Amino acid sequence: MGNSERKKEATRRWQRRHREEARIYARRYREENKDKIQAYRAANKDRIRVRSRDYNRKNILTTGGKHIRVRKREYPEGNVCELCNEVSQRLEYHHWSDEAPQFGLWLCPPCHKAADVFERGSIDKLDKYYQLKKIVEGKPDVVPASLLP
Ligand SMILES: [Zn+2]
Repeated sequence: MGNSERKKEATRRWQRRHREEARIYARRYREENKDKIQAYRAANKDRIRVRSRDYNRKNILTTGGKHIRVRKREYPEGNVCELCNEVSQRLEYHHWSDEAPQFGLWLCPPCHKAADVFERGSIDKLDKYYQLKKIVEGKPDVVPASLLP
C-alpha cells in the first residue's frame, strides 16, 4: 500500500468513527469549493457516470415507479442473462416479493417479461396457447375434445 492509499484509508477510518463531524466537514467543503467540484465533474463525466451506474446496480431497485434501497445479488459478468444465458445490452433485476426484494435474478428484458408472466401464474395458459395454435393451423387432431369449439 502506497502512502497516499494509507492516508485515504486513515481518512475513511476517521470518517466511520466520526460520522456526524465528517458530514459537516463534507458539506462545508462542498460549499467552499463549488468551482473546483464543478471542474472535477466536467473533467470526469464518464468516470462519474460509470460509478453512479455501478452504485445503482448494486443498491437501487426500481419497482412500481419508485426507487428503493436494496442490496441486490452480484451483477453477472459480461451482461449474461441468468435465465437464457444470452449476452444482453443491459440486465434488469427481477424480484418476486416486495417483502424480500433483495432476492432476485439478473435477466435480459425479454426474460424479465417472461418471468413476470410466470409469477402471475399465467403459465397455466401455455398448454391452451399451444392447443389453440393447432386449431388455427387446422390440425385439431392433437387437441383434447374438451377444447374443441
Ligand atoms: Zn434472457
